[in-house]
Amino acid sequence: MLSNRARESFIVKYVVCIPDGCSDLPVPELDGATPLEAARTPVLDALAARGQVGLAQVIPPGMPPGSDVGNMSIFGYDPTRYHTGRSPIEAAALGLTLTPDQVAYRCNLVTVTEDGIMADFSGGHPDSARAAEVIAALDAELGGEVSFHAGVQYRHTMIAPAEWADAICTPPHELSDLPVVGPQGPAGPKLASLEEASRSVVPRFGLKANRIWLWGQGFQPEMPSFREMHGVEAGMVSAVDLVRGIGALTGMTVANVPGATAWYDTNYEGKRDAALAGLADGADLYAIHVEASDEAGHEGNVAEKVRCLENWDRRILAGLIDGLDQLGPWRLLLLPDHATPLTTRSHIDDPVPYLIVDSEVDGPGGVYTEQGAASAEVVPGHHLMGRLLARAS
Ligand SMILES: [Zn+2]
Repeated sequence: MLSNRARESFIVKYVVCIPDGCSDLPVPELDGATPLEAARTPVLDALAARGQVGLAQVIPPGMPPGSDVGNMSIFGYDPTRYHTGRSPIEAAALGLTLTPDQVAYRCNLVTVTEDGIMADFSGGHPDSARAAEVIAALDAELGGEVSFHAGVQYRHTMIAPAEWADAICTPPHELSDLPVVGPQGPAGPKLASLEEASRSVVPRFGLKANRIWLWGQGFQPEMPSFREMHGVEAGMVSAVDLVRGIGALTGMTVANVPGATAWYDTNYEGKRDAALAGLADGADLYAIHVEASDEAGHEGNVAEKVRCLENWDRRILAGLIDGLDQLGPWRLLLLPDHATPLTTRSHIDDPVPYLIVDSEVDGPGGVYTEQGAASAEVVPGHHLMGRLLARAS
């Protein structure tokens, strides 16, 4: 414990830890436990014992339980006010800025069978470089009124005139193994004819993908910078464009970490070290996002979801706390952006447990699990950033 004088001479550092989709429901293979209960996480357990565990509604009622909505909440932006769609956030991560007369669409490379079944919403996870060749060909052959921009693997962007925004599109991952339903609404026919035309371009490249799927449209979000909103300088590390885009839109430093893959094999230590380096370098706050727990949820992979939480503990939190202690007083917020239960294999909008820890001031203490937070009052997710930054003293 530092004396008051020592505390005043240090600047408080803030860390936000986001294990994507980590909260869950009871899992039969774990004898009814959740991954948070089953994983061996001594560092997290000790943090919870000295912190405050609560429950946050990161997905506002009626909004889709996506990572874009949940992470916007975590960064302290009310999604009901700032969320315009998924695609413009990813477009920002690609360095694209929409003008007021433009709308961005997510453009998936997908595989649809001859008889119209969505066989693979990820088009066989093509290599990004090969996918970029397909996107360049689409832009050359179908571009003009619209333009195509290459992203990561199967996830790309199409920019269209604003009047094309008026359409109802189904996310392709909600159609897995089902008959496809094309775009509806006033702009539906224009989108459908582009999707149809893509069937003469995409198959030429020898990938599993055979056409495009357009969805997730939105206009440029008007978000105040993180500094304007919260009064501190922030950075983040994530391998996912949907999260990195929020950083780009709000003027956060978005770090690049070699080996950060958004998959089970991601570079946990590299993310931890990038956050500590950013904080030592002058950032007040750093967010660390890891996608692996969400992917394990979607795959129904119990062992990998537990392992991801154990990796967080051993490969991020242990060294992170040591590193933070060297920098001075700190406060930490940990929570997922939504739950991705192993039994549903898709996102749900249930409230999620959160943890706030102050290096100097002990909280009531708790257990960081779904059950440990179950009786807590539910707070809106976008209020937590304010709670983190308003230092209790
Ligand atoms: Zn997520």
